[in-house]
This record gives sequence, C-alpha cells and structure tokens, in this order.
Amino acid sequence: MSDYHYSLETKVVHGSKGFDAQTGAVSFPIYQSATFRHPGLNETTGYDYSRLQNPTREEVENTVADLEGGKRGFAFSCGMAAVTTVLNLFKPGDHIIFSDDLYGGTYRAIEEVYSQYGIEASYVDTSDLNIIENSIKPNTKGIFIETPSNPMMKVTDIEGVSKIAKSKGIITIIDNTFLTPYFQKPLSLGADIVVHSGTKYLGGHNDTLAGFIVVNDDIIIERIILIQKCVGSVLSPFDSWLLLRGIKTLAIRLEKQQENAKKIADWLKNHPKVEKVYYVGLPEHEGYEIMKKQASGFGAMISFNVTDANLVEKILKSLKLIIFAESLGGVESLITYPMVQTHSAIPKEIRDTLGINERLLRLSVGIENADDIIKDLQQALDN
Ligand SMILES: *Cc1c(COP(=O)(O)O)cnc(C)c1O
Repeated sequence: MSDYHYSLETKVVHGSKGFDAQTGAVSFPIYQSATFRHPGLNETTGYDYSRLQNPTREEVENTVADLEGGKRGFAFSCGMAAVTTVLNLFKPGDHIIFSDDLYGGTYRAIEEVYSQYGIEASYVDTSDLNIIENSIKPNTKGIFIETPSNPMMKVTDIEGVSKIAKSKGIITIIDNTFLTPYFQKPLSLGADIVVHSGTKYLGGHNDTLAGFIVVNDDIIIERIILIQKCVGSVLSPFDSWLLLRGIKTLAIRLEKQQENAKKIADWLKNHPKVEKVYYVGLPEHEGYEIMKKQASGFGAMISFNVTDANLVEKILKSLKLIIFAESLGGVESLITYPMVQTHSAIPKEIRDTLGINERLLRLSVGIENADDIIKDLQQALDN
C-alpha cells in the first residue's frame, strides 16, 4: 500500500503488500522457514536465511515504516532488542542524553550493560529544551526521548529537540511506544530514529513481544541492517503475523482507548482519595499545548497519586476487572505500581525526585466499557 493518499486508518488494515499476490490469501502468509533455496550459484530469490530476511517479517517492517512515514523499518524480538540495537549505533566515549523519566528497562540496559562499553549517559528533564541544550557536551552523539514519558507523562517538544540536535550533528531518537504513529509521527517532526515496544499498542493484545525501529537516513539504515544481522534479535515469522493482525485494529483500538481514558481521567480527578492525575489529555497538564501541536491525540496512559500509600495494596487487591500486571497498550485495562514493577531498576533518589513514589499507580486503559472500568476503580478506592 504505497499510495500515500490513504489515511492511517486505512493503511493499518491493509498493511504494506497486504494480501499474498500468488494465492490471493487475504491474511498475509506466515513464512515459517529458517532458510531459502537458492535458484543457482550466486542467485537468490531475495531471501537467503530468516535472520537476514523473512517475507512475513518484511511485511510487518514495511507496514510499520509506512505508518511512521519512514524509509525503512526493522522488527525485533521485543522492545528492548530494538532499544539496544539503537544503543549499538554508538561507540565507546560517546555521550547520550536521555529523558530522566525513562522506561526502567532502558535505564537498566544503559547502566548495567552499555556503561561497560564506555557509553556515557546523562538523564535530564527533556521537557525543558534549555536543560537539554545545557547538557550537550563535545562528545554528545545522541538524544533519546520518551514523550509522553513513563510513568510521569512529561511531554518533550520533538521538533524543538530535533532542531537543537541537528545543529550539532546529534541523532534524535524517539521512543514512540505510548502514542504510536496513529497519534504521533516523530520522523515528520525532525527526529532521526523511532523505536517502539511493539508489545504494547502495536500488538495490542498482550499476547506477544515485539520491537521496532524506523529510520529515514541511508547511513543509519545500513548500519542497523548490519547490527540486526549480527546481533540476531529478530522477530519470528509467527510473531510478525500476530503484529500484522494486531496493527489492523490499531486505529479503532486507540480511538476507543483514548475516549475511555479521558472519561476515567476526569473521574479520577474528582475522587477524594486521588491527589493528582497525570494524563496528557487534561487541559491543565503541563504538556497539553505541546501535545496539541505535535500529536493528533493523547493516548490512553494515566498515572495517578493516591492520598495515602496504605491504599495501594488494598486497591490492587480489590480490583476485579482491571488486571494488576506489568505492560500496557493492550485491549485489557492493566494497572501497575511503577515503584516496585517497571521502575524498580531506577535508584530511589532519582525516583523520588521524579515523583515515582509509593503513592503512584499507572493505568493502561483498555477497550472495555468505560463505566465498567470506573465502577471497578470506584469500588477499589472506596473499599
Ligand atoms: C515496554 C517498553 C519498552 C521495552 O519493550 P519490551 O517489548 O518489553 O522489550 C521500551 N520502552 C517503553 C516506553 C516501554 O513501555
């Protein structure tokens, strides 16, 4: 589906090639083959070995690239495989600036693995462009941003960061997991690399892990082709197909999830046991205006502080519909306790300054009936 006139709602349904040209199969085939027969010496069908190329993986890679408006997409076995592939672009002595409110796994990968290889990292409040500018050093080679951030929902001006970075030859990387290309297209705002945990909204059903990278620049593309081939953390043919199937409903899922999230955020705001609600779709949110400028929607991730830490255990125990589980972005509403789950790798002092405290809960709003979700929260909070 190379016709750029189609809207994203249409593109998600039909994918890149979409159907199988040979048989007409409407569901793109799963090419469950590790290797491919060569027609003759020095001849190839374009497929040699599935770590290098696989038709099903290629279909999902092209689909996600098309959605993000990028030249080339890469599919990985999980989001962290995509994130670490991006980190593999850097060399010892390189300095990277990260959003301070960063996915815990990314933080862990840098501190426990990449620091060993001489990658230098700073964690700063990227929602303030002055802070970013002041954090740039002579050896700064990358700026890695999550917007909205996880779990504090801080919003970074992608265009602003990309401009600063470009003027200094620095690569801008955006983790677009929370909004997906349905709501936000970082490459069109000047970013160089988009990464995803496809496990979340792209897959959308809490049933498989996946990761993606989308790039425009030919030099970066060639380097990532090489790293993907060398490191080998590719997405399997079956998981590629699950992602293709999940992506078909991305638009309607996100519309419904966003609609639910707005209702729930408004309800939470008025609950006496809720002290503060962090949802980028609330006009009082600090990042609301930037969100309106750079995204077409607000997504469905909500964090909130309850008034008393003692409430947390009771709430998590009392919820019947909302599932207490890590992860986000699927059709089922999930609740997490970031301090002990997703962000346990982050040192307490840093967590405290960010606001990831013992009273903070994070809600990934699903596609259930909004009133049912609210009723569940109500009985758990009032319990
Ligand atoms: C989950 C997540 C990741 C890691 O992805 P996995 O698929 O769990 O490996 C990276 N970034 C963000 C923002 C995430 O939510």
